[in-house]
Amino acid sequence: MQFSLGEAFALHLDSEDPLAAFRQRFYHIPGVIYMDGNSLGLMSKDSETTLRRLIDEWRTMGIGGWGNAEIPWITYAESLGALEAPLVGSEPDEVVVCGGTTINMHTLIATFYEPRGDRRKILADELNFPSDLYALVAQIRLRGGDPDEDLVLVRSRDGNLIEEDDIVEAMTDEVALVLIPSVYYRSGQLLDMARLTERAHERGITIGFDCSHSVGVVPHRFDDWGVDFAFWCNYKYMNGGPGATGSIYVNRRYFGKMPGLAGWFGNNRATMFDMDTEFDPAKTAAAWQIGTTTMLSTAPLEGAIRVTNEAGIESIRKKSVKITAYLMYLVDRLLADPPYRFSVCTPREPERRGGHVGVVHEDAWRVNEALKARGVVPDFRPPNIIRLAPVPLYVSYKDVWDVAQHLKAVIDEGEHEKFSRDRGVVT
Ligand SMILES: *Cc1c(COP(=O)(O)O)cnc(C)c1O
Repeated sequence: MQFSLGEAFALHLDSEDPLAAFRQRFYHIPGVIYMDGNSLGLMSKDSETTLRRLIDEWRTMGIGGWGNAEIPWITYAESLGALEAPLVGSEPDEVVVCGGTTINMHTLIATFYEPRGDRRKILADELNFPSDLYALVAQIRLRGGDPDEDLVLVRSRDGNLIEEDDIVEAMTDEVALVLIPSVYYRSGQLLDMARLTERAHERGITIGFDCSHSVGVVPHRFDDWGVDFAFWCNYKYMNGGPGATGSIYVNRRYFGKMPGLAGWFGNNRATMFDMDTEFDPAKTAAAWQIGTTTMLSTAPLEGAIRVTNEAGIESIRKKSVKITAYLMYLVDRLLADPPYRFSVCTPREPERRGGHVGVVHEDAWRVNEALKARGVVPDFRPPNIIRLAPVPLYVSYKDVWDVAQHLKAVIDEGEHEKFSRDRGVVT
């Protein structure tokens, strides 16, 4: 990709952007350039519409909404799963919208971690999101295992990236399950899920992915790849709202398998209200629901999925690759040399990165604070990374150009030096 410097070039890229019109489908915060959609996506007008519809249905139907709402609430989790399925390359009944990321991980590990004989280990990696590692340790303990023995963490060679070869090499006969992320939350590295699935299966190992940082910005082909299970967060690139309900994918070869954390919402709908004492799991991914659909946390996701499908995940990815490349180009050309000294920790190869760019600076915390004071919303991840997510649906090339100018001005003016080195509670 050939880029040039200057605002006019950024405006030219915007004029050629097939997704440019989607920007107007979102609410923007006045005076703010929002670069944190990998933590919490902005609100779309489509989400507002579906949330308002739910509020109206509740007001006018009461309990009747479970059966009579425009999309009946009783099967809303499955309906949204079917809507979301094209984003992950699955059939409609292999995805269900329920629970939260960490909760869903617990039920999936409780289902797919089947330690037997000498095959007792879970293979993960040291750079995954802490919640995932906490859950793995807890699940091993629940099975009476010893996390020091049974949890194997692939180490990073450079503290930043995980080598796929190292993951493959660690897939020994003692490994029962592999659980890794698709995209790393810090570096933005994207793993080759197809290759890792193939290698795991060759060795008789079950494999699942945490796709919190990839669904909505990277296309997935779970069925083609033969992935066993996956789960993800819907409040990041999916823009489902703060604390939005999460999603589960279960490959159909497991339909009928007993979910680890059974609950009545996973029951076959035909017999659910028989109130039988015996659990009769649905014969689809819907079986992995636990309790009643949290409608208020789920309704905004409907609009968000619709707007994402309308844009098309392939077009979103195409823009994402280009706009992240542009951002890295600007860091290289404008911000690498002294006195700026910014660098990029995200892989340069498009097939190895997700939707955000990690920008490294030795004083990253304070630069991040100074950026916020200038009306840019990035986020900071220790020890020295500023994450910038140019979300394709609502961030423009001009925004990225402006962010680079703000980074430059912070250093030119020494603005970061006015901030304390003490970190707040939420970063
Ligand atoms: C965002 C994220 C989570 C969040 O988990 P919650 O249960 O929604 O709080 C978990 N894992 C990964 C990898 C994430 O990126």
